[in-house]
Amino acid sequence: MKEQLESIRVKAMEALEDASTPAALEELRVKLLGKKGELTAVLKQMGKLSAEERPIMGQMANSVRAAIEEKLEERKETIHAAAMEARLAAETIDVTIPGESYCIGHQHPMNQVLQQIKDTFVGMGYEVYEAPEVELADYNFTRLNIEEGHPSRDRSDTFYFTDDDSVLLRTQTSPMQIRYMETHKPPICMLAPGRVFRKDEADATHSPMFHQIEGLVVAEDITMGDLKGALISILRKVYGESAATRFRPHHFPFTEPSCEMDMACHKCHGTGELDGQVCSTCHGEGWIEVLGAGMVHPKVLENCGIDPEKYSGFAFGMGLERMAMGQLKINDLRLIFDNDVRFLNQF
Ligand SMILES: [Zn+2]
Repeated sequence: MKEQLESIRVKAMEALEDASTPAALEELRVKLLGKKGELTAVLKQMGKLSAEERPIMGQMANSVRAAIEEKLEERKETIHAAAMEARLAAETIDVTIPGESYCIGHQHPMNQVLQQIKDTFVGMGYEVYEAPEVELADYNFTRLNIEEGHPSRDRSDTFYFTDDDSVLLRTQTSPMQIRYMETHKPPICMLAPGRVFRKDEADATHSPMFHQIEGLVVAEDITMGDLKGALISILRKVYGESAATRFRPHHFPFTEPSCEMDMACHKCHGTGELDGQVCSTCHGEGWIEVLGAGMVHPKVLENCGIDPEKYSGFAFGMGLERMAMGQLKINDLRLIFDNDVRFLNQF
C-alpha cells in the first residue's frame, strides 16, 4: 500500500507537470482526487490494515493528497500566467501611432443665417411657429384673398396632390398666418420660417424648394410705421448698422397697402457700378429686393374671425436663401443645396 501511494504521487507529479491547459488540469484532478479517483481507491482499502498501520498510512495518504493539491494549484497559476502573457503580447497597442482624427461638422451656413434671424425676432418678442408643408388650397390661397383663377394657383406653378386641386405643397409661408390667427387671439407677434415649393427649374436664382420667413403682427393700432421700424431694425441686425434700405409700393392680394423692401447692394454699395462696370449682383440698380410686406388685408383678418375694425396688423415674407446669399456673398443659389463639403467648410 505504501508503494501504491508513492507510485500515485510520482505519476501525478509527472502528469501535472505535462498538463498545459486548464481543461487538462481539471481532468487530472478528477482522475487523482475525485470520488472514483486513484487515491480514493487506495483509501478504501484502509479497512484491511492493522490498527498500528492505519494511522501511518492515513498520514501518508493525506500527505500525497496535499502534495497533489499543491502541485495542481501551482500548475494552475503557471498556466494562467502564460495565457495572460500570450494575450498581452497578441493585443499590444502601440500608443505612439497617431490616432484617427474625426471631422467635426457645423451648422449649414443657411441655418446659421436662419438662426441669427430667428434670434433677432425672438429678442423683439416674436414667437416662432411651425405648420404643415402639405397644405390645403383654402389656406394657401383662398383665405389669403387669392381668388380662383389667379395665376399663382396655376397647375404649372404649384405641386398639387389631388385632382380637385384642394391639397398641395405650400407655395409660400403665408398660410401659416391663417393657421396662427385661427388658433391665437390678438395681440399676435409671430415668425414662421419654413420650406416652400414651386415648379421652378433650378438655376442660379431659382430652386423648386426654397425657404421663406413669414412674419405677422396683429394688435390694436398697428400702423405702417411699426412695419417699417421692425423691418429696418432686422435688416440692420443681419447686414450691419450701416445697411441702407428703401420701401417701394407693390401689390399682394393679402395685404393693403403692400410694399417691397430693398437694400443697398452689398457688392457696389448702392452705386450700381463695380470697377467701372455694371454691377452684376444688382444689375446696375444699386438696390436688391429683400422682402415683401404690407398691412394685413381686412378680408384676411375677417377670414380668420378677427375684427378688422378693432385690430390691424402687418405681415412680411422674406426669402431665406436671398438673405443668406447676401450675407455670405454667394452668387449661385444651387451652392446652398449642393452640400459640397469644400463649399460648406468656408463658413
Ligand atoms: Zn450692385
